[in-house]
Amino acid sequence: MTARLIDGNALAAQVRGELAARAEALKAQGVVPCLAVILVGEDPASAVYVRNKVAACEKAGVRSIKDTYAADVNPRTVFDRIAELNADPSVHGILVQLPLPKHFDADAILEAIAPEKDVDGFHAENVGALMQGNPRFIPCTPYGVMKMLESANVPLKGAEAVIVGRSNIVGKPMAMLLLQAGCTVTVCHSQTKDLAFHTQRADILVAAVGRPRMITGDMVKPGAAVIDVGINRLQSGPDAGKLCGDVDFESCKEVAGVITPVPGGVGPMTITMLLTNTLESAERAAEEMS
Ligand code: NDP
Repeated sequence: MTARLIDGNALAAQVRGELAARAEALKAQGVVPCLAVILVGEDPASAVYVRNKVAACEKAGVRSIKDTYAADVNPRTVFDRIAELNADPSVHGILVQLPLPKHFDADAILEAIAPEKDVDGFHAENVGALMQGNPRFIPCTPYGVMKMLESANVPLKGAEAVIVGRSNIVGKPMAMLLLQAGCTVTVCHSQTKDLAFHTQRADILVAAVGRPRMITGDMVKPGAAVIDVGINRLQSGPDAGKLCGDVDFESCKEVAGVITPVPGGVGPMTITMLLTNTLESAERAAEEMS
């Protein structure tokens, strides 16, 4: 059996086309959607993520502001800048690229962002709203995964969903969204005993761990939807230097019903959902003005 591929690039292009039309409609009302991105330090992966986000904004007709600070900046400077952006009515979304340098209290920084501009959905108020089933902003990666499942017509009601990984940015919000969609959800993590026992009974399997190719075909239920969130750079072997996911694509595609690739899967959808959240925020602001 060879699984159907969910092409994240194609789906992202389709959604971004719709977003560009919404951005145009907003501009006609005098509102230019705007995302502010704050980058602290010189982490090369973070710099690439920020560059991709800014480029995606440009293509979708979203204005972007990029503020970069040296790794040893006084956190006060960043707090002050967030306060300025919070107060600026022309800014609809604010995100601080993680991870932050060690002398920062990352939680305090995320809490400083106005909840109504928190397009990553990491502020405690937004986490609580998601938990209650009334989200203001859905965190971008799990939001993208839900869109991918929807696009592939994967049945959710009554499905067994297993998520490997329990981070605040992927695993936990993913669990909440699948639960609210009617799945029976199991969340696995580093202390889970017998991981394969859980993954083998998953109709929907989401891997968000950060360990190259750890989910192999023998761990997958025949016909399952396998969603690979992981982004890893291989350090050794014949594919050294290449990107791969947490799923061993070659063995899993023979067992799964649908599967996402890496690269070209969840990654492009994550940025697309960031644009979606920014547009939604700008639309709310436009409504309040009218
Ligand atoms: P974290 O490191 O925050 O979380 C990893 C999770 O995996 C933890 O909950 C950890 O458990 C669990 N884990 C670690 N080892 C095992 C194991 N052997 N068995 C089962 N569970 C294990 O990572 P993130 O959630 O931030 O990211 C996960 C992956 O997704 C990374 O590769 C990251 O690069 C990628 N990513 C991709 C995005 C995209 O757009 N495609 C966006 C965000 C992330 P414990 O809690 O017990 O430590």
